[in-house]
Amino acid sequence: TDSDTADEAVRATCDDASTCKRFATSKGYWTDLYVQYFVRQIGERKAPEINRGYYGRVRGMNLLIDAFLKKTQCDCQVVNLGAGLDTTFWRLKDENVMPKKFFEVDFPMIVARKIHHIKTKPPLSKPLIETHSTDSLRLDGHSLDSDRYCIIGADLRDLPALEEKLKKFQINPELPTLFLSECVLVYMTPEQSSKLVNWVADTFPAAMFINYEQKERFLSAGWESVNALDMMTVYSVLPQEDVARIERLEFLDERELLQQLLQHYCICWAVKDKLSLGEASI
Ligand code: SAM
Repeated sequence: TDSDTADEAVRATCDDASTCKRFATSKGYWTDLYVQYFVRQIGERKAPEINRGYYGRVRGMNLLIDAFLKKTQCDCQVVNLGAGLDTTFWRLKDENVMPKKFFEVDFPMIVARKIHHIKTKPPLSKPLIETHSTDSLRLDGHSLDSDRYCIIGADLRDLPALEEKLKKFQINPELPTLFLSECVLVYMTPEQSSKLVNWVADTFPAAMFINYEQKERFLSAGWESVNALDMMTVYSVLPQEDVARIERLEFLDERELLQQLLQHYCICWAVKDKLSLGEASI
């Protein structure tokens, strides 16, 4: 059907994102020790403005994620919506700043692929086994559950099913919870994405939502404070020695191209702090 074709195109965006991240890390824009296990080939060259765009995206998201973990002293959960082949969990494990539990959600087909990579690559599976209390991980084709990490196949447009699955994997709504959506909500209708964002606000008394998207998108209903920075601004608040370093990696002829690209995107974050953790100050 048409909608199957549309969903297939959406699922393909997961490869775009990881392929671009794989390429940019191979050039030295930032370090990601794990993306190579999800995308083997470095692949075709990407334009410098694309690499710089991804650099700002990843660095900007990480800044906010790390601030939340610090504020909550890791006594929290992270839920990565439309996680694709994202490697954040493994970075946090290496940096010794793991949340109580890290949840990932994506379409069952993507989840099955990710589980296959995890099962067959020891650098990916080892951290899960190490942080798990019993001998065997709970695992089937469409989900994997361990004490600190789980991955769930679900459609983010079907909220009752999503809620049920998160419960089954022991999400605790009383714990401060960080929701991530990196280039995900844009693939839903505004009604569908606002229902999702509202559901989070209604269900989690202490939460933060970080969304990387095109500028026009985020809604504030149910959230106490919402901030948005376009990527031009994010780029200018990142550590400037590092920005200078990556700008020397590849020559960029037309700076305007990069500016146009960065102006189209933003990172926004919304906070609900009913438990008064002081998250609003992030
Ligand atoms: N967040 C990852 C990143 O930035 O590297 C992947 C981004 S990719 C552009 C979008 C991801 O969202 C894909 O993996 C896609 O399968 C997922 N996605 C989009 N709509 C979804 C839905 N309705 N339910 C579950 N996953 C969805």
